[in-house]
Amino acid sequence: MPVDTTSALLSWYAVDKRALPWRASGSETADPYRVWLSEIMLQQTTVAAVKPYFAAFTARWPTVEALAEADEAAVMSAWAGLGYYARARNLIACARTVVREHGGEFPGDEAALLKLPGVGAYTAAAIAAIAFGRRAVVVDGNVERVVARLFAVSEPMPGAKPKLRALMDRLTPERDAGDFAQAMMDLGATICTPRSPDCGRCPVASGCAARAEGRPEAYPVKAPKTAKPQREWTGYWLRRGGEVLLVRRPPRGLLGGMLALPVEPPAVAEWREVGAIDHVFTHFALTMTVLSAEGDAEGEWWPVERIAEAGLPTVFAKAAAVAAAA
Ligand code: SF4
Repeated sequence: MPVDTTSALLSWYAVDKRALPWRASGSETADPYRVWLSEIMLQQTTVAAVKPYFAAFTARWPTVEALAEADEAAVMSAWAGLGYYARARNLIACARTVVREHGGEFPGDEAALLKLPGVGAYTAAAIAAIAFGRRAVVVDGNVERVVARLFAVSEPMPGAKPKLRALMDRLTPERDAGDFAQAMMDLGATICTPRSPDCGRCPVASGCAARAEGRPEAYPVKAPKTAKPQREWTGYWLRRGGEVLLVRRPPRGLLGGMLALPVEPPAVAEWREVGAIDHVFTHFALTMTVLSAEGDAEGEWWPVERIAEAGLPTVFAKAAAVAAAA
């Protein structure tokens, strides 16, 4: 089965691949900078959400050299709304490392890529395969789902990960590993979707064990869920005429380096509760009570009417919207 599955997928991809802005077209070679940027942006984030950010970043910083020279605050602000902000800090660090240590050219092998800031095993394999044509085993969530179904892997996640990787290794061809990885991702994103796999349109249906069993949605087998811990924060909206006080968060930790509303009282004032918002982070769920007052304090004062341009992370943008409307 593996050889047939591999070639069937490659043939399907040659005709039906998604047109994505970071993909090379025709006989062009993929640009490592664009592949890297897209892979970092796509971590934990959908293609639809990434597209406008990718367009904005590549218009503003078209090369790794340009990004390496960018002002950090400008990059953080351009990233605002995409979430997982450690990625943006690593993005700048990685661009600078590529320029400083590799003369502005991304290295082509996985081991060297893995040493770059923010580049983990998945991203290193993806760049090596897609941008440099190396044989690398590329495993993301889409690939895990497709492999778990093709082989009806009954072990629950995340314990099944090493097995799924070994199976992907078996499927990955010597040549065209980049196309193959992207074919698996496309299949997972468009046909072998989490809730309703469209097996009737699937190019590898004849070799799929989960389909043969008649219950493809049962794979990958999930471990029982544990509830996310709940946290409570307070966001302070301090007005001074038409301006509002923002603070820059400490460089390390959650939303590090981003502009935000203070989460400690910035001044003694007559605070009034104007609402609350909910936000879900990877490791916890947050409820933020929003308090508003007039007053003065040290910090960065922003015109309220231009608050959308401040580059606030989503959780604070939600709080700001509640406060501004009150
Ligand atoms: S046959 Fe169905 S379950 Fe199997 S890989 Fe194709 S879409 Fe997924």
